[in-house]
Amino acid sequence: MVDMTRAPVAPPWLAARRKPFCLLCGRPTTFTNVYFPGKDTPVAPPPGKGRMIIYSLCDCCEGRFDELADIIEASIESDLRATGAI
Ligand SMILES: [Zn+2]
Repeated sequence: MVDMTRAPVAPPWLAARRKPFCLLCGRPTTFTNVYFPGKDTPVAPPPGKGRMIIYSLCDCCEGRFDELADIIEASIESDLRATGAI
């Protein structure tokens, strides 16, 4: 199970990390979210460790979060693979 935590208002430490462009469509962002990959995902943290991935979405994509959750997860994994992080 993947925990994709959402809060109505990002705390300041998280809001300060908002990325300028939407993870999915490239539009300017409004929301900053945190992805905690589960131990059964390709981006699982090492045993005994946690992993937190910060990403941002535009209004449109955030409004469709529930239907896009799997695509968001795949996009994060793809980006990490492309950068050699996993
Ligand atoms: Zn978007």
